Amino acid sequence: MPETSELKRSVSGVRGIVGDTLTPELVARHAAAFGSLLSGDKVVVASDTRPTGPMIKEAAISGLQSVGCDVIDIGIAPTPTVPLAVTHFKAAGGIAVTASHNPIEWNALKFIGSATQLLSPTLFDRIYYLADGNGRIAYRGWDKIGSRTSSLAMLNVHIRRVLSLKQVATRAVARRKPKVVLDAVNGAGSVYAPALLRKLACRVVEIHCRPDGRFPRGTEPLPENLKDLCAAVVSHRADIGFALDPDADRLAVVDEQGKPLGEERTLVLATEWVLSRTPGPVVINLSTTQAVLDVAKSHKQRGYTAKVGEANVAAMMKSKRAVIGGEGNGGVIMPSLHPGRDAMLGMALVLSYLSHADQPISQLSAGLPMYYAAKTRKAPSGDWQDRLNRFADHFGTRGQIDTRDGIKVTMDGESVHARASNTEPIIRISAEARTHKHARELLSAAQKSLGY
Ligand code: MG
Repeated sequence: MPETSELKRSVSGVRGIVGDTLTPELVARHAAAFGSLLSGDKVVVASDTRPTGPMIKEAAISGLQSVGCDVIDIGIAPTPTVPLAVTHFKAAGGIAVTASHNPIEWNALKFIGSATQLLSPTLFDRIYYLADGNGRIAYRGWDKIGSRTSSLAMLNVHIRRVLSLKQVATRAVARRKPKVVLDAVNGAGSVYAPALLRKLACRVVEIHCRPDGRFPRGTEPLPENLKDLCAAVVSHRADIGFALDPDADRLAVVDEQGKPLGEERTLVLATEWVLSRTPGPVVINLSTTQAVLDVAKSHKQRGYTAKVGEANVAAMMKSKRAVIGGEGNGGVIMPSLHPGRDAMLGMALVLSYLSHADQPISQLSAGLPMYYAAKTRKAPSGDWQDRLNRFADHFGTRGQIDTRDGIKVTMDGESVHARASNTEPIIRISAEARTHKHARELLSAAQKSLGY
């Protein structure tokens, strides 16, 4: 059953509504708990562009310093910059102040390990245990509190790290010089993403790249939120359009005709490109399109599914030694860069594929395995377990059942999935099939069996 309270705590961090559940006191206490578990070592802090970012960030920094952590503030930066910064500054961990795609009234602390070391799930339990007043947070005296410095070095470090990946075809992109329209939703990618594209020698048109956190469209890079981007791709006769979410870990692609490919296609395209250069295992989450697994199969590579949640995907990628993977929400992960979703990485990979293939992006996408999804969200009312049981009774005998995260039933590549969200108090129901019509039929059968 999802929490009814608006404060959400999970294996990524603590998320709430500013002025309601997310207060400076609560933020400082969680940051202090995190810092004391890192034994007062060095910690990197960044924020996205939300207007509440500075207030929340200051409270987090204060909490960290209070337990002796030396804080390096890297300013406004994408969430994926943080693990790279933790490694760059030889820190013990990082905090990204961002509520990702949640609406503007939300903010959050996301606790992050380094580019090579994930935070363990038990660490999160201990953070929450301490922050709830169980056990003692190791506050320091006046002469032992942590220092605070600022650094803007990470913009260049992040770009350099992406461009140095062997799967990023810098020469092919520089030859083709694709024209790219970028929509950064006025979020944390507003500066980083255009800088990367220019370094790749793209011709760049920027829309919604003012880092003021006034989100000019729906925050998720979903087709219905990309009307400005689609129009700009057409009017500028661009080769491709890219859309980010507010903390720049998710990426959606718009084709040269101004048509959104759907955020599921980002990982399909990136996986095809990466496996064609460097074969290896692939890991996705349970709600990602089957098309990624089909791509892996076409390259004779193993594909695995993890529970929903970036940390779960990252942990499985590590154990399976995956070369690429991520989430169907536009989150591309390559462990050789760092274990988190990274829109900058996604852009560089898709542009490499586009430039190397020398075909329009619409054709590249059309040439890859394709499924159609139908999704809906519902308020969590009634007995959730009872609803799930009825769902399992209805579909369970028809395919393979997976109960790691809600219930997913896979029937010859097609599937239905019902689960409670980790980040919002909602129930997500989805279906995937080889035709639109069948996906919609599966979804309505799923809704019915759940009693919605
Ligand atoms: Mg995000």
